[in-house]
Amino acid sequence: MLGLRFCRSDGLTVASHNPIEMRVDRAIDLNRIRPNHVEALERLPVNKDFHLPGVRTLTVERFTSSEAGAWSNSYLISGDSDAILFDVFMVSAEAAELARAIGKTGKTLQTVMISHAHPDHFMGLDAIVDRFPSARVVSTTNVVRDIQQDGPWMMSMLQGKLGPAGPKRLVVPEPLSEPVLRLGGNELEVVEFGECESKHIASVYVPPLKALLSADLVYNGAHLYVAEKHIASWLDRLDELAAFAGDGVSTIYPGHGTAGGLDLIAQTRTYLNDFAQALQTGDANAVERRMLAKYPEYHVKQFLTVFSIPAFFPAASSA
Ligand SMILES: [Zn+2]
Repeated sequence: MLGLRFCRSDGLTVASHNPIEMRVDRAIDLNRIRPNHVEALERLPVNKDFHLPGVRTLTVERFTSSEAGAWSNSYLISGDSDAILFDVFMVSAEAAELARAIGKTGKTLQTVMISHAHPDHFMGLDAIVDRFPSARVVSTTNVVRDIQQDGPWMMSMLQGKLGPAGPKRLVVPEPLSEPVLRLGGNELEVVEFGECESKHIASVYVPPLKALLSADLVYNGAHLYVAEKHIASWLDRLDELAAFAGDGVSTIYPGHGTAGGLDLIAQTRTYLNDFAQALQTGDANAVERRMLAKYPEYHVKQFLTVFSIPAFFPAASSA
């Protein structure tokens, strides 16, 4: 189900500094500030310390796993003293490294929010909860159910593949009672999308930053995981996302790849259409050749070659 509510910020002007990408997001409450004032504020020099008196600051910091760990993103949304972690890494050592990096920020990790039931976003939870036992691990009811259903076989599969580098135990999030996360006096909205890259995806909308942490509904510069074969419904969800974004979202933080603007929706749509078109050849090798020729620099090649194509050509891959 898609929630179309927009939580306009309550008069916040926020500067956010992302130390990895060195990009700055600034959101301004358009209900309170006239357009000429908006322009004036936007012309101010970029400065992460800039804020108006009484303004509460939020930042979004991106952490990225290795290529073998699916180059997946984990985001730390921080307030003055507390933080929310959005997704975790799959490979144990990388999840533990992520936990150490969070520890170094000095913020209190109050919540870990999981976006969807794919291993590269939740399987390393054990390393995080071991380091932060008082953090609440949450997601939507649907995503929790997906993890309950698919988590056990995904964990056995990964333990088989990764051995000691794999997850030690399955941690299942608890369902949120309302689609809201609170941080430093701000309310972040949890917006769930239905069938697309996975069965459900729970994104997080951060009103004062005009930012959406989309997880795998949107990718940037990485091959898409299309192994669940829901190309048509994924395209529908992208339409819903575009409608949701409207003028309330200016930055998308994807599940794989760097943050960008709303053009990432079109980029994801184009890849899906290209993949669907390549499938028309009816030849697994031709699909691979075409997609690699079109996207030679894209990360996570294994999503294309080991997962997506074999899902559509099971006979070819088992031959
Ligand atoms: Zn992913």
